[in-house]
Amino acid sequence: MYKIIDGKIVSKKIREEIQQKTSALYKDKSVKLKLATILVGNDPASKIYIKNKINACSEAGIESEHIDLPATTPESELLGIIDKLNGEVEIDGILVQLPLPSHISADKVTDKISPDKDVDGFHPYNQGRLLAAKDYDSLIKSGIPIPCTPYGCLKLLEYYNIDISGKRVAILGRSNIVGKPLSLLFLLKNATVTICHSKTKDAKEIIREADIVVCATGKRGLLNGDMVKEGVVLLDVGINRGEDGKIYGDADFESVKEKASFITPVPGGVGPMTITMLLYNTLTLGLKRRGIINI
Ligand code: NAD
Repeated sequence: MYKIIDGKIVSKKIREEIQQKTSALYKDKSVKLKLATILVGNDPASKIYIKNKINACSEAGIESEHIDLPATTPESELLGIIDKLNGEVEIDGILVQLPLPSHISADKVTDKISPDKDVDGFHPYNQGRLLAAKDYDSLIKSGIPIPCTPYGCLKLLEYYNIDISGKRVAILGRSNIVGKPLSLLFLLKNATVTICHSKTKDAKEIIREADIVVCATGKRGLLNGDMVKEGVVLLDVGINRGEDGKIYGDADFESVKEKASFITPVPGGVGPMTITMLLYNTLTLGLKRRGIINI
């Protein structure tokens, strides 16, 4: 019988802990944590994501400063705004909502955000620190921001006491924001990791052997129950909008659940964890940059 990995429950617990930490901080010190968010253009989905992030910040006791820019904003202007925010002492984190209009390089934007305000964990310095980390616990203690969705996946497994050490993990998707950093976290947890991508030839065999499968492709119906082994743990990161307007993952939940020991629903699995870990990164970076050790 499968067990649901409920991202809403885990998120609520972590967000409450963050809220307790921010209120303790504000009682003791005259600082207020603040996240700067930037949205370029009018993409409706991006607007909803930003609104959700700002609301989540407010519930967790983190202030936000939002900057709305027109889609025609020159790249140099955006880079200048980030530069200014990098220098503002009261700003603890900077988030530029992706995707950006095609005339703006997401890489240049990512590189511009100061690594100590990089709440998404996308800056090459922070990605390098993740790559160079020797063990999971010291990585966490170091306060390096870890990309939110992969970190959220690990937190889900931790909450449900799901063993990772020595397990075979198949990750479907190799993006810099999900698949690649997630593979490094699993390695640090002593798993044997295989990343599959659009050019992988023997993905079916790799998936069939895996104790833990993570789908992060944005391809609905990529995985079904016939492809996984009995007792598999499935984390479905995918977000796909069906013709009925509903959100679906990459995996066929109904058939995979028959064989799974643990499985995330979509929505309500990995999704809520992404914003939660953004709050966590903002808190951690804020405390670190301000030199506050105990709260
Ligand atoms: P991406 O488009 O950057 O990467 C997709 C990856 O899937 C690529 O590496 C590609 O090689 C791989 N892929 C494509 N077809 C494949 C196949 N048949 N077999 C194996 N791999 C295949 O996407 P992304 O930004 O990593 O996001 C992936 C999905 O996760 C999307 O649906 C996105 O919306 C979702 N997402 C969800 C959250 C969340 O909070 N739940 C956060 C980030 C991304």
